Amino acid sequence: MADLLPGASWTRRADLAQLVRVLGAENMRWVGGAVRDTLLGLDVADIDAATTLEPEAVIARLKDAGITSVPTGIDHGTVTAVLDGGHVEITTLRQDVSTDGRRATVAFASDWRDDAARRDFTINALYAHPETREISDYFGGMKDLSNRRVRFIGDAGERIREDHLRILRYFRFHARFGSELDQDALDACEHQAETLKGLSRERVAKEVLSLLALADPYETVHLMARLGIWKVILPETGGKDLERLQSLIAAERAAGIAADPIRRLAALLPALPPVATEVGTRLRMSRAQRSRLSSAADRKLADAENPRGLAYSLGKERAIDRLLLTGADISPLNDWEPPVLPLKGGEIVARGVGAGPDVARILQTVEAQWVAEGFPDRTRVEAILDDVIAQ
Ligand code: ATP
Ligand code: MG
Repeated sequence: MADLLPGASWTRRADLAQLVRVLGAENMRWVGGAVRDTLLGLDVADIDAATTLEPEAVIARLKDAGITSVPTGIDHGTVTAVLDGGHVEITTLRQDVSTDGRRATVAFASDWRDDAARRDFTINALYAHPETREISDYFGGMKDLSNRRVRFIGDAGERIREDHLRILRYFRFHARFGSELDQDALDACEHQAETLKGLSRERVAKEVLSLLALADPYETVHLMARLGIWKVILPETGGKDLERLQSLIAAERAAGIAADPIRRLAALLPALPPVATEVGTRLRMSRAQRSRLSSAADRKLADAENPRGLAYSLGKERAIDRLLLTGADISPLNDWEPPVLPLKGGEIVARGVGAGPDVARILQTVEAQWVAEGFPDRTRVEAILDDVIAQ
């Protein structure tokens, strides 16, 4: 009997049922992470569909049904449907005609097996019929899934020559699912490590941050370092830094703090803000991400002395970054939000200080004392103000 996709909250979504009606159940299958993760009983974040319809036909059908579509990867046959419950990436069945490791020239195909063959791993090439839920498995993905084995479709070396990013995808999926490693795949990744230099930095950054966002990527990063792969993407990581990643993960767990890829990346870099900024720029991170990475690199042992003072000046997120990275206790920040200084400039003027730089200076002095004393109440703030004005 054929395997079936189990029911999950997403398979019962009304907006997806409408999408199936619009495209036609016979013209489409669910594929990729949604199918794989549902078979494993995991939550599904984003949904991919494969279709025999060409992109123009997909766009036309969505338009007629009043569904917004975005031609996100039209060259590769991908159209994104914007539904109430989230985005769905709809990709026309394709075959890779030629590949140079960085980009593929594609041709649309009509055969599901051809489409499966161009995918990276057997567990990522499982298709589910949207109505019968029947699974189509052309390369033994079900068996690999039950053994939690990440296996390339075809020869690992060849598949990596077609698209070098698959090196990083291999390790990311291994960190997520893999129990058993495949020596051929490891050898191929090791031999072609240098080719990662030729990829667009955005694609590399996205994969690296997805790897670091997993529950426990330490063993995998360690393995990548041992094989000489990590240094190709992040030469700034030293031996000690790997240990810091391991301690950070343990500290996050002990404190009940969610994994965060930027903080994990900070653990893998030396505590030098200019290096962090350079890495952030190289990885094409946003300004906010770069600034956070550089703040994490600016950590000092003294940060642990007044965790609340640190959170008051940097914000809670950045304070937690620095404290966890230095192995300091973050419990003073539990159920605590930085308060607002209970004093306004106008009150200082009301005490006879002329409006201008003096007011700002007094306000700063009072604030510093208030922070140092652990944020006492208004009565104490008034007393501090009296002292400062009398000085
Ligand atoms: P997740 O979204 O949970 O990270 P996913 O498997 O859905 O995992 P996506 O990057 O969303 O990964 O890609 C969707 C599918 O497209 C994959 O399951 C795979 O079949 C195919 N795919 C994506 N990137 C590649 C690639 N570089 N080479 C071959 N196939 C790929
Ligand atoms: Mg996906």
